[in-house]
Amino acid sequence: MTFSFVAQEKNKRLKVNVDLKKINSYNEDNTNDVQLTWLGHSAFLLQMNGFNILIDPLLHKRASPLKFVGPYRCKDRGFKSFAELPAIDVILITHNHYDHLDRPTIKEIFREKKNKKCQIICPMGIKKWFRRKLLRIPSRQIHEADWWDDFELTRLPTEFKDKDLLEKAVATSKDKIVLSCVPCQHNSGRSIFDQNKTLWCGWVAKDQKYSIYHAGDTGYRSTPNKITEEDLEKYPYCPAFKQIGEVHGPFDLACIPVGPVYPASIISPDHANANDAVNIHIDCQSKHSVAMHWGTVEYLGLDNIKYGPEELHKELEKRSIQSEEFHEIYIGEMVILE
Ligand SMILES: [Zn+2]
Ligand SMILES: [Zn+2]
Repeated sequence: MTFSFVAQEKNKRLKVNVDLKKINSYNEDNTNDVQLTWLGHSAFLLQMNGFNILIDPLLHKRASPLKFVGPYRCKDRGFKSFAELPAIDVILITHNHYDHLDRPTIKEIFREKKNKKCQIICPMGIKKWFRRKLLRIPSRQIHEADWWDDFELTRLPTEFKDKDLLEKAVATSKDKIVLSCVPCQHNSGRSIFDQNKTLWCGWVAKDQKYSIYHAGDTGYRSTPNKITEEDLEKYPYCPAFKQIGEVHGPFDLACIPVGPVYPASIISPDHANANDAVNIHIDCQSKHSVAMHWGTVEYLGLDNIKYGPEELHKELEKRSIQSEEFHEIYIGEMVILE
């Protein structure tokens, strides 16, 4: 039997190893300020200033309206049940495509007793989807966001019935996090009847020390299938990332999509290739980025699901950017800021 180094490298990139011990000890020791764990595709567990935030959780098999066809999650999620994770405080949703908003996962999260008070923050128009009879999440736990809206969350030691005392406790608490809805270039819809009827977005999370950015599902520049490198610059690009950088940046950490890419004439308006991803990384002023939206969901585009890391490394090399600044991680890998 022979092994090649390249094959091992690929396996490492596509491995699944969620560190449940580290995830669960976060709220006990709180030695790390931020722990960001990739759960595959665009799903992350962001642990920040004591809060547990789940972003775009697609943690079941099928990313499609039909049970037996369409894109599917071909990678394990690395844990058996939500009982193994800490209580989720907030679920952040970027848009309603099946590979980002997954009913079986949302159902499973709320079935877990400790998650009953979990809050959902989603782009405009999606609240009613969570209220439908198959989920029936209480209205007070679902919050819709428009681009540039901010949500301040404060953790309080006790419940305050007196309004003045409550306001004072909120004003003086340091257990805060601000979640901001930001624009991106994409579309929405779960059927042919609701195309672009609901909003899509990215998210920024900030506490007193750190700024984290999840770019959502996004394109950067719409191009034809064949294009030379010189011609590329002639095509307009989405200005949102520079604006996000000016308003909320620089970012200590950013999650940026890489892929799918083929065919460019259809995919490029809504998805980022490696060149676009590096542009987003620069425009939004990210100090450290990780690649997402690759390596997890099969049949999303015509690409191989492994599109992403190799192309990203080539692109970074071309622009003399260190690969420590923007790289891929395996499912379950944790990025720590301390
Ligand atoms: Zn999408
Ligand atoms: Zn997607």
